[in-house]
Amino acid sequence: MKKIVILISMCSLLVGLNACREQVQAPEEFQWVVDRFDDVKVLRYQVPGFDELPLQDKLLVYYLNQAALCGRDIIFDQNCRYNLPIRRTLEAIYENYQGDRESADWKAFEKYLKKVWFANGIHHHYSMDKFHPEFSEAYFDSLVAVTPASELPQDYGTAEELMAAIKPVIFDPTVMPVRVNQSAGVDMLSSSAMNYYEGVTQREAETFYDRMMKPGDPQPISYGLNSKLVKENGKVTEKVWKIGGMYSPAIEKIVYWLTKAAEVANPTQRQTIESLITYYKTGDLKEFDTYNIHWVQDTVSHVDFVNGFIETYGDPLGYKASWEGLVNFRNDEATKRTEIISSEAQWFEDHSPIDPRYRKKEVKGVSAKVITAAILAGDCYPATPIGINLPNADWIRKDFGSKSVTIENITNAYDEAAKGNGFREEFVLRAEDRERMDQYGALGDNLHTDLHECLGHGSGQLAPGTRGDELKNYGSTLEEARADLFALYYLGDQKLIELGIIPSLDVAYAEYASYIMNGLMTQLARIQPGKNVEEAHMRNRKLIAEWCYERGKADNVIEMVKQNGKTYVVVNDFDKLRTLFGELLREIQRIKSEGDFEAGQALVETYAVKVDPTLHAEVLDRYGKLGIEPYAGFINPVYHPVMENGQIVDIQIEYPTDYVGQMMEYSKKYSFLPSKN
Ligand code: ZN
Repeated sequence: MKKIVILISMCSLLVGLNACREQVQAPEEFQWVVDRFDDVKVLRYQVPGFDELPLQDKLLVYYLNQAALCGRDIIFDQNCRYNLPIRRTLEAIYENYQGDRESADWKAFEKYLKKVWFANGIHHHYSMDKFHPEFSEAYFDSLVAVTPASELPQDYGTAEELMAAIKPVIFDPTVMPVRVNQSAGVDMLSSSAMNYYEGVTQREAETFYDRMMKPGDPQPISYGLNSKLVKENGKVTEKVWKIGGMYSPAIEKIVYWLTKAAEVANPTQRQTIESLITYYKTGDLKEFDTYNIHWVQDTVSHVDFVNGFIETYGDPLGYKASWEGLVNFRNDEATKRTEIISSEAQWFEDHSPIDPRYRKKEVKGVSAKVITAAILAGDCYPATPIGINLPNADWIRKDFGSKSVTIENITNAYDEAAKGNGFREEFVLRAEDRERMDQYGALGDNLHTDLHECLGHGSGQLAPGTRGDELKNYGSTLEEARADLFALYYLGDQKLIELGIIPSLDVAYAEYASYIMNGLMTQLARIQPGKNVEEAHMRNRKLIAEWCYERGKADNVIEMVKQNGKTYVVVNDFDKLRTLFGELLREIQRIKSEGDFEAGQALVETYAVKVDPTLHAEVLDRYGKLGIEPYAGFINPVYHPVMENGQIVDIQIEYPTDYVGQMMEYSKKYSFLPSKN
């Protein structure tokens, strides 16, 4: 259950690394931004502390990194079944083209390929809309014509047959226009381009899983999580992602590296990794639960990882999980902050402004830490969350707790890259708000993530008889809103001052002002003109901001101020705003606890979806003038084993600056699936 960074905005002035190599003492200017195209900036992140890790931890990180990188093709195929043949065709052209690489057509082609890499497919990673190439079909034909046919993917037959399959998908805007469509009143499966279902209707899929679920099962498996649902010979059936099943060639490589990792892991972690291997071998979701229970109980190991089919945002029905990988190690200094918060978890739960019946009587094992990411992979790459809370199964969270992380080297990279980009000067009206944001913005953001992940998702309980999947396509948005509201509510609590976590409530006010401004206005920079808000985290922020705006109107809690033809969002009353956060939290917790689909649907459809076109146009215009790309992602460091007498004696880290180079390298070294799966 990720929280994706709220606003990404960076400086374009940073330049390359010019410092002379000999001058080791000179403060080096680290190049944070390595590429820019379309609405995206590509950054680097640093991995402080890696060099100081003991060799065994370095080896563990290294093997887990390899395991993470091996799953890249899976997410491409999951996002759309034409992504792999399209990516490989584009790459074959890119590698072999001998013509003019400076022409406008070629630049447009290159931009399209960069976007496809960034989104792990042909649909925007965030808006889910299909990309429209800015080059013609005729130009594409001319590129294919000069590419050796042997370099093109072979699984579709001849080059002509391949083109017949992929060209409509690339060029016809009516073919597979949206990756995940959660609009009310349509068949969400046939109208979504994602590859989790084929030949089954929404009703068939829902019936299939409804039948599978056993009412009253205290330990339900995550039905449907690791399979594609298809119709074969008229029968609805699952193609399970496992060794010997779908995606086997990639999963075999993942398991190979996990096996290596298990050899250097401590006994606790070895058990965890081995249970993951068993799950990958069998595809048995009970084994996945076993793995999760091992994983969540290990709060001691310094190195940690996520590797598997985890998050369900890519499935309009919320059953099927995208593949992702993340390897990390604990940032011990910053973790002191989250340890204080998690040690008070019961206090926060007991004082939560929700119906007491829906409070957790006993909060179990909330473990929270601040981590340093060492590699991002699958659905976490190049765009990545800044916080993660797992596992997702409600009963495991209830019985065994959850692990929650804030990824601080990633947020740090965002902050560094955003310095001096003019965003606050343009959008924040009052000097006092700007000053608070300058002083406390980073702390407020990090604490919000801590509270959202560590306590928010883990709080509350379901009413007896509620299964947890009643909210269907509104579930993700409402769950993110619940976690955000919990975080916002407690960010403004005196308790945080008492605990020594914040110096004053100015930290909360900085976060409140930027959160509301973002939810009501600036996040619209991420939406194409004429489109609605679709992505769950964006919907959640809009829901909270719009609801509080409307409920606080009589008291002028939030004001839309017009000045010199520009719109500004101003919070006039932070205390009342906090009260409103508490009220909405209470209602959304009730909706979740009771599985009240109608109320959840009404909230989301009323406040979270529709965009005011006038305000939207204004935001896009002001953003455009600043030259800020609304999205960012990362390239990974590279880890080199240092060999001596056939043994790895050290792992050295390198920070490359070549986005295209990394993508091409990954496509060569870590590509194991056929183009047709
Ligand atoms: Zn979340």
